[in-house]
Amino acid sequence: MPSRQILIFFSDTGGGHRAAANALRDAFHFLFPGEYEITFVDGFRECAPFPFNHIPDTYFPLTAYAPHLWGALFHSSNSRLSLPLSASFDDFILRSGCARVIRARAPDLVISVHPLINRAACNALKEIDPDTPFATVVTDLFDAHGLWFSAASDLVVVPTAGAFERGLKWKFPREKMRVIGQPISIKFATHAPAESQRALRERLGLRDDLFTILLVGGGEGMGPLRAIARALDHAALPIQLVVIAGRNKSLYKYLTELPWQIAVNVQSFVNNMPDWMRASDLVITKAGPGTIMETLAAGKPMLLSGYLRGQEEGNVKFVQETGVGVLRASPHAIVHQLRAWLDGDRAQLTAMQASATRAARPNAALEIAQELVKLL
Ligand code: UDP
Repeated sequence: MPSRQILIFFSDTGGGHRAAANALRDAFHFLFPGEYEITFVDGFRECAPFPFNHIPDTYFPLTAYAPHLWGALFHSSNSRLSLPLSASFDDFILRSGCARVIRARAPDLVISVHPLINRAACNALKEIDPDTPFATVVTDLFDAHGLWFSAASDLVVVPTAGAFERGLKWKFPREKMRVIGQPISIKFATHAPAESQRALRERLGLRDDLFTILLVGGGEGMGPLRAIARALDHAALPIQLVVIAGRNKSLYKYLTELPWQIAVNVQSFVNNMPDWMRASDLVITKAGPGTIMETLAAGKPMLLSGYLRGQEEGNVKFVQETGVGVLRASPHAIVHQLRAWLDGDRAQLTAMQASATRAARPNAALEIAQELVKLL
């Protein structure tokens, strides 16, 4: 029987928070086998009263069909004046539910990987037992929202120096922050056995003679993936395309029924993203932080096809400033860029690949788990 309890607060708003929670759980189990029992708590679904328990169901429609409203919500809740209000509102709807879960589990450590749940979970814990440590693991790469830093956490782990600067801007104590990396699957870690790209492609049913592009839109299959896929199909480029539709069932159906002209492999939600990334030569994705850091860990260059207003704008900055990818925000611009790379000079691709390997933090989840146990 594991002797210690860890609670991880997350929510299924997108795929990134659950992916980060999974990575941390796997890292604890890998490093300390049998020592920790880890329980996930979807803060909104399990702790918020009706109708707020349905917030995860609104994420996809809101971000997909009303991106301007989403961006406005992000920015309007993220100023010096408005942040205390948004933090108090989250606290109001979530704190008593968080306290109920915390009392029931009596954890030794509580972790939050979600900016909106952070403060309520921390307040609930500290009211019940001020000595139990609380840690925040930030999953935004650059312009991290102020709510990440609004809890009285004992430790805040951030993925990049840019996010560290944000924490300072929000007056979070420097000595309680660590720059380690984004917690990505430990299948990306350097201890994991590396299969050759050729063997991987064979196992995944891919051709080995074509430049292979992985097209993905986060856990929910977001962004104009249909239009991009169609544009790539009609571009007459020497490519093979893998599209991962995630949980977007209508996208999956649409793509599997298209009369494709190019070699294509369409997947719904996959549990082996590291394999698909390593089998590819380039990743086309929206600017999701999880996918970006996974792409770097796989050592691949990337082409950003867009970003969520507000929340992912900083991730674009991170990609451009570290020289690991470019933003081409329309299907036409994507095809134009690919043609330039594939018909001509591939030096930029090679340079981006080298930068990706330099900026990668493949062992971040393991390093974060090692840091978190120091709190116990
Ligand atoms: N993901 C996955 N399988 C899929 C699609 C996505 O495991 O079929 C994972 C992906 O590897 C990443 C996460 O979902 O870890 C997406 O996180 P990101 O931060 O990129 O975007 P979000 O979905 O949170 O907007």
